[in-house]
Amino acid sequence: MPELGGDLDGVLARAAAAGVGEIITIGVDLPSSRKALELACNCRRIYATAGVHPHDSFPLDAEAAGELIRLARQERVVAIGEIGLDYYWDHQPRAVQQECFRRQLELAAEVALPVVFHIRDAYEDFMDIIRDYAGNLAGGVMHCFSGSWEVAEFCLDLGFYLSIPGTVTFPKSGVQQEVARRAPADRLLVETDSPYLAPVPRRGKVNEPAFVAYTARKLAELRGCTFEEIAGQTTGNARRAFGLPPDGGEEVA
Ligand SMILES: [Zn+2]
Repeated sequence: MPELGGDLDGVLARAAAAGVGEIITIGVDLPSSRKALELACNCRRIYATAGVHPHDSFPLDAEAAGELIRLARQERVVAIGEIGLDYYWDHQPRAVQQECFRRQLELAAEVALPVVFHIRDAYEDFMDIIRDYAGNLAGGVMHCFSGSWEVAEFCLDLGFYLSIPGTVTFPKSGVQQEVARRAPADRLLVETDSPYLAPVPRRGKVNEPAFVAYTARKLAELRGCTFEEIAGQTTGNARRAFGLPPDGGEEVA
C-alpha cells in the first residue's frame, strides 16, 4: 500500500520492536497479489495472499484464473484473499461480485489454500453462497469480522477463524466487542488491516503492523486474560489457520 511502501524498513523495524514477528500482506487484485508475493520473497518475515477483492471484482476469464492459480502455487503464498462481497461500498455490481467470489472459491479448493474473506454488509448472501463451497475449502478467515454473534456462530460451525481488527477498540463497537468476548480462544485472530482502521490510541492515523499490539491488549481486557496469553494464542491460531511453519521464517533467513 502506498501509505506504507515508502518506509518499508521502518514499518518492519517498528513491527519487530512491538513483538510482531511475522506479517501476512494482502493481494486485492492481480498486480497487488504479484507485489505481495515479491515482498514475501524478499523478506522471510512476510507471507502473501493472492486474490481479487470485491471492490476490484471482474468476470475472471481463463487467463486471469490461470494467473491466480500460478500465484497461489508459489511457496510464499499462504491463502486466497481478500475475496468476498462488499455491499457497503458497492464498487462493483453485486452480480459481478458474487460471480468473482464463486469462481475464486473454486480456485481456492483447487489449490487447497485457506480463504481470507472480506464481507461487509453482505452476510446474508455470504451465508447462502458459502454453503456450496465450505466443505471443499482448506479453511477460512473472516477478516475484519463485523457480523453479529449469530453470524459468528455460523462461521465457527464451518471451521472458520474470526479475525478482529482495531475497530474493536472504538467505544461504539459493542457488537464486535461481544464477538471478541465470546469467540472460542482457539478461533480468534487479531489483525491490523493496515493502512486502515488504526486502533485507539492511534485512531485516524495510518495504521501499521506494530499497532496490532493495541488490538491484542483490548482483547485481553475484554476476555479477562493477560496480553501474553492473547498474543500466544492468536499467534498459534494464525500459524494453524495459514499453515505457517512452527518456527516462523527465521530459520531460513
Ligand atoms: Zn478487507
